Amino acid sequence: MSVLSFDELNRLEKKRRSEPIDEYYEPMHISRQRKNNRIRTAEKYRDAVLAYMHFIDEYAQYGYIDIPAKQYLHDGILSVVEDVMIADRVLRDYADRITSDIHDATMRNKEKDPYFLSEDRATFIGEDESNALWNYEELQEALDVGMTRKTWNTVGDRVVRDTHKAVRGKTIPIEKAFSVGEAMLMTPRDPEVDAPEETVNCRCWLTFS
Ligand SMILES: [Zn+2]
Repeated sequence: MSVLSFDELNRLEKKRRSEPIDEYYEPMHISRQRKNNRIRTAEKYRDAVLAYMHFIDEYAQYGYIDIPAKQYLHDGILSVVEDVMIADRVLRDYADRITSDIHDATMRNKEKDPYFLSEDRATFIGEDESNALWNYEELQEALDVGMTRKTWNTVGDRVVRDTHKAVRGKTIPIEKAFSVGEAMLMTPRDPEVDAPEETVNCRCWLTFS
């Protein structure tokens, strides 16, 4: 990770924390179906992270919980991933990395900041990570039906990163990556890329042709 941890960056980006899940995707100009997919997965993701937080809370009194808690979170995230699609190598690597990011930040901060064991944080993670999974799934679906090009779209509001405004409307061959800031991204919120400065809380999406 870069200087800032996943969660710390999350909080700086937004200046506030989670929004109601059914409102989070509204600014995205995508179909109702695509929004509903994201909402359903965000809710499951939130619940998986909440279950992990409760696990920590409940078992902390019995002492050593680091490894079992991390495994519990990993199992929860993998089941959310597999609710969207079959977990290929990319998504298995993603599940490993996001588990470590969430768990490490939780262990480091839970004593000093109640946010790290809060529903607010679980919701925030769910909203953000659901976009990562669905952007990836939609790219696979487009490849399956023979689409050859993809276009980057932004919600167009003032919190869109400058680096994402710079690729707004850009169309490239579907198998290539977008050059976004310092990162190369196959999709917005690319689950394969560990570049939080270009991915956390990104609400950009792809269209295909
Ligand atoms: Zn974006």
